[in-house]
Amino acid sequence: EYDTMKPHIAVLPSPGMGHIIPLFELAKYLVVHHNCHVSFLNITTEASAAQTHLLRSPACTLLPPGLQVIDLPPVDISALVSEETLVLTRLSIIVQESLKSDLKSVLTELGKLQALVIDFFCTQAFEICRELSIPTYTFCTTSTAFLSFALYLPTLDREVECEFVDLLESIQVPDCAPVRIEDLLDQVRNRKIDEYKWMLLHLSRLPMATGIFLNLWEDLEPKSLKAIREHSFYKQIPTPPIHVIGPLIKQDEVPMTEMDAECLAWLDKQPLDSVLFIALGSGGTLTAAQLTELAWGLELSRQRFILVVRKPTDTSASGTFFNVGGDFNDPKAYLPEGFLERTKGVGLVIPSWVPQVMVLRHASTGAFISHCGWNSILESISHGVPMITWPLYAEQRMNATMLVEEVGVAIKLSTGGQEKGIMGREVIERVIRVVMEGDKGKMMRDRARELKDSADKALNFGTGSSYKSLSCVVQEWKAHIS
Ligand code: UDP
Repeated sequence: EYDTMKPHIAVLPSPGMGHIIPLFELAKYLVVHHNCHVSFLNITTEASAAQTHLLRSPACTLLPPGLQVIDLPPVDISALVSEETLVLTRLSIIVQESLKSDLKSVLTELGKLQALVIDFFCTQAFEICRELSIPTYTFCTTSTAFLSFALYLPTLDREVECEFVDLLESIQVPDCAPVRIEDLLDQVRNRKIDEYKWMLLHLSRLPMATGIFLNLWEDLEPKSLKAIREHSFYKQIPTPPIHVIGPLIKQDEVPMTEMDAECLAWLDKQPLDSVLFIALGSGGTLTAAQLTELAWGLELSRQRFILVVRKPTDTSASGTFFNVGGDFNDPKAYLPEGFLERTKGVGLVIPSWVPQVMVLRHASTGAFISHCGWNSILESISHGVPMITWPLYAEQRMNATMLVEEVGVAIKLSTGGQEKGIMGREVIERVIRVVMEGDKGKMMRDRARELKDSADKALNFGTGSSYKSLSCVVQEWKAHIS
């Protein structure tokens, strides 16, 4: 039972760490800072052990009063997918089946709700919520630049006949930075396949939202924000009201494993800004050949490092997406012979998973080789750490370009996925040195710190722009309680 004078909000992410993490932060924010009651709906899958682990971790077993996690039971999708089914299709089918069988009854049981907050890929909820008269908000788990592209995609789909990858020029999203063809996300690179159809379907439903939350702050992407708010194209859609409420990132991690503790103790002993951190998100995997080059580049650069590694795979750059932390593997088996011995003391190799926020927050961490998932970007900038971009899948190439060309906190290493060929060890070594030793690195670090300060300010209780933006929405919810 709970206080019926508080707004009661349900939050529903699609299953994937990059979505669960920020929506869970939103849930906590609403409870802790905005006096809401939140029911966090967790779509369970056959491979969601690690995700459930996140929600049940020691940091979360002490869920703040007013926040409850409700598991939607796993659904059997075996008849609908095969080994070859691509990640967004698989995810969309899980969501579709799960929501079809459970969402209506779960929402009904929760009693009167002021809102449901979903991510990009839970759009079947719009119909169900319309029936139940529950306003539905979309939480955008990535950049404003991507949101503007997303709002433009249905138009692009109508107006362009050929494959987008065959266009000769960049795509001019109204009033935003042009999207280079090579930066286009995987899901729109072949319009004939199911992944594209799912992406288009989900994104074309954005206008059904009562409002759109953006997980960033005003100073990060001022140009795109201005475009989306003021340009007639977005007004005509019409684009739902935009609420810029971030950066909401993981705050309260605790070391969970012996390895975590060891990693942090090692960092304590290293000099200020001296360690390069390498992690490729929850799903990123490299080919064996590319991992070899990365390891050699690192070794040749002679910098201190923490390298999170997964067993390489030649089939998919998002190889471990549904198997987070699931493969406790032996790096010796696939890193160059003698690498571990030669870098002993200088570097730390950790299989699968580290408490990333704690590493980025640590004063010894000086730069981050990142796959440019949005959460990783927010976590890096929020701790004043510049990046070397290594985009792999989804919209990460767009994110990387934006960081380098608009925000000025990153330098580009690779331009894309596995089809792009291999990045050689010399290039990797050189870029690492530029960031860890050179003036360019210092400039990027200064810029990251400037943005960190502006992010802190945006979140300030009572006065920050992001705080106030979320607070306004909560006031609207409060007005609808009776
Ligand atoms: N993460 C982590 N440890 C790791 C790898 C990833 O804690 O070893 C977390 C990271 O802090 C971030 C999330 O997993 O919060 C990854 O989200 P992101 O949007 O960066 O990428 P995605 O996994 O969705 O591609």
